[in-house]
Amino acid sequence: MTIFVTGGAGYIGSHTCVELLQNGHNVVVYDNLSNSSVEALKRVETITGKLITFIIGDIRDESSLTQAMQGCDAVIHFAGLKAVGESVAKPLEYYDNNVQGTLCLLRSMQTNSIKTLVFSSSATVYGDPESLPLREDHPLRTTNPYGQTKLVIEDILRDLYRSDNTWQIMILRYFNPVGAHESGLIGEDPQDIPNNLMPFIAQVAIGRRENLNIFGENYPTHDGTGVRDYIHVVDLAHGHLKALEALTSPQCTAINLGTGIGYSVLDVVNAFSKASQQSIPYIIAPRREGDIAACYADPSKANTAIGWSAKRNLDQMCHDAWNFQSKNPTGYK
Ligand code: NAD
Ligand code: UDP
Repeated sequence: MTIFVTGGAGYIGSHTCVELLQNGHNVVVYDNLSNSSVEALKRVETITGKLITFIIGDIRDESSLTQAMQGCDAVIHFAGLKAVGESVAKPLEYYDNNVQGTLCLLRSMQTNSIKTLVFSSSATVYGDPESLPLREDHPLRTTNPYGQTKLVIEDILRDLYRSDNTWQIMILRYFNPVGAHESGLIGEDPQDIPNNLMPFIAQVAIGRRENLNIFGENYPTHDGTGVRDYIHVVDLAHGHLKALEALTSPQCTAINLGTGIGYSVLDVVNAFSKASQQSIPYIIAPRREGDIAACYADPSKANTAIGWSAKRNLDQMCHDAWNFQSKNPTGYK
């Protein structure tokens, strides 16, 4: 199949391109490079020995999008803005980019009679969990504009399917993607100060930042620091391939992609320190506004619905994140 990948130059998109190419699919990447580099795609070609068709464009440019996806069989939609804090400061940008962009995408798909879609959602749609582990039928609500864009898009997709039940839609709710491809050629390359834990730790380990701030030490967790379900980005990428392969009949299905295991900030610091053989100096800082104590998936639906489960453990995640960071101390630059 030929897969149209929006945001395919980004962190998760580039790893998914590797999986798609290695499994015999053709890939058309459509990305405005607002948070990525074309270098990532060149490296995907190096890893796979296959060529990617790359089109620089914005998903809100509907005519360019409609033209670009001609002849494709399915869409994987990663393009979007993803920084929670920035979304609070710039809600209009987030709604415009993520929601308006997705509306353009869906109309372009209709114009091209492409009705198979895998969408990047997030565990943020569960808000502060009422119960753990999180199942897909947990109530949906969010606490920030970024999460709201994901929830609105999910609702649009459910409405779209209700209106036309020939669509084949898989909504993937990611937990915390970390790590990098085992080659060390592609990985996470934050443009500014990293918001997320693992890339921040990696930059402390390489000496780009003095110390980690641990946001809160008195959560009701096993060591007082926040607990999350970290998932290796290569496992996550593989989940997209499995989702695509499972989309052989009309549906609109939401699935968690997580490991089901919760690790605390201190667990991650210790695992990273072991994997990198570097010390990770940290200071305890106040809680970060909007953070929840703990969040981890019940990943069993992914196993039954698409035959997927995560394979890589926290040590592997840290090893591969460090491999990418140490081989690319300043990212793709
Ligand atoms: P990323 O920023 O690395 O990738 C997103 C890509 O989309 C980038 O290459 C960017 O240039 C592109 N893009 C953004 N707006 C665009 C637009 N208007 N038109 C065309 N291209 C555009 O982010 P990622 O971590 O790879 O995330 C991919 C998707 O997964 C996003 O939708 C994100 O919200 C979602 N997600 C990410 C995480 C995470 O922690 N990384 C967790 C849950 C969900
Ligand atoms: N965290 C931290 N210091 C940082 C970044 C994150 O202590 O510099 C903590 C954060 O409070 C949370 C966990 O690490 O408990 C994961 O945060 P991240 O931003 O990576 O993911 P999210 O909060 O979106 O789940």
